[in-house]
Amino acid sequence: MNIIETKNISYFYPDGTKALENVDFKAKRGKIVALLGPNGAGKSTLFLHFNGILRPNSGNIIIDSEPLSYDKKHLMKVRQKVGIVFQNPDDQLFAPTVIEDVAFGPMNMGLTDEEVEKRVKEALKKVGMAGFENKAPHHLSGGQKKRVAIAGILAMRPQIMVLDEPTSGLDPRGASQILRILYQLNQEGMTIVISTHDVDLVPLYAYNVYIINEGKIIKEGSPPEVFEDVKTIRKANLRLPRIAHLMEILEKEDKLPFEKPYPLTIGEARRRILKEFNE
Ligand code: ADP
Repeated sequence: MNIIETKNISYFYPDGTKALENVDFKAKRGKIVALLGPNGAGKSTLFLHFNGILRPNSGNIIIDSEPLSYDKKHLMKVRQKVGIVFQNPDDQLFAPTVIEDVAFGPMNMGLTDEEVEKRVKEALKKVGMAGFENKAPHHLSGGQKKRVAIAGILAMRPQIMVLDEPTSGLDPRGASQILRILYQLNQEGMTIVISTHDVDLVPLYAYNVYIINEGKIIKEGSPPEVFEDVKTIRKANLRLPRIAHLMEILEKEDKLPFEKPYPLTIGEARRRILKEFNE
């Protein structure tokens, strides 16, 4: 069942920029869905529609089977259900200490002090930031800030976590820590929607992938389905995952027998190579 669905939504910014055009996007409950697109494609704009921060000029948004409505009460409910982690943690973190930051959301939900404390502790543990409670967020590394921002959303116990470019600007270790956390949360039942322009990351985690370009969804499917359509990938100024690119070159230039669909991960490539060499 879809937990997020947009039906034919279009959005213009007040200055007239058309940022989304007839977008149909669905996220199935309990899955990891990736929105892939170059800078300026409309990824952040689409995400800001999921909890009613932006309102489409036309089309509908359905969250957990309910059409999104924009009265205060309903928006509050939706914002507890759909947690958004912004691209830049500095837009999200503002309290003087980590603990106050993570407690901010649950405190605003009117929970008891004990419950807030319990949630904050649990959230910080899940993101591997226990022990940093009294640190100032601006003294943390990029990856640590990101993890605190995730904890702040987690503490509200949303059903869906939406993350805008969660690994951008992080070093490989920081990025893989974030991905491991997201994978773990997903294993525990959380629906995860991430935007990225990192094609090497998508096949590892996503159940399905949407490609957005110039405000339009131009492709949707499982990672193998999407990356098989090289023409569309290139049209969106994206590239194949490096491993698929290598297999494409080996097949085309060196006439090695790697047919499409090319493997998208190192694990798959390894299996294919061993199979070819053992036959
Ligand atoms: P992405 O997240 O994929 O990089 P965005 O959703 O940020 O893309 O932007 C989509 C389009 O909307 C771009 O053309 C961008 O310049 C424009 N845009 C984004 N924010 C604003 C804004 N506040 N006012 C006007 N145009 C904007």
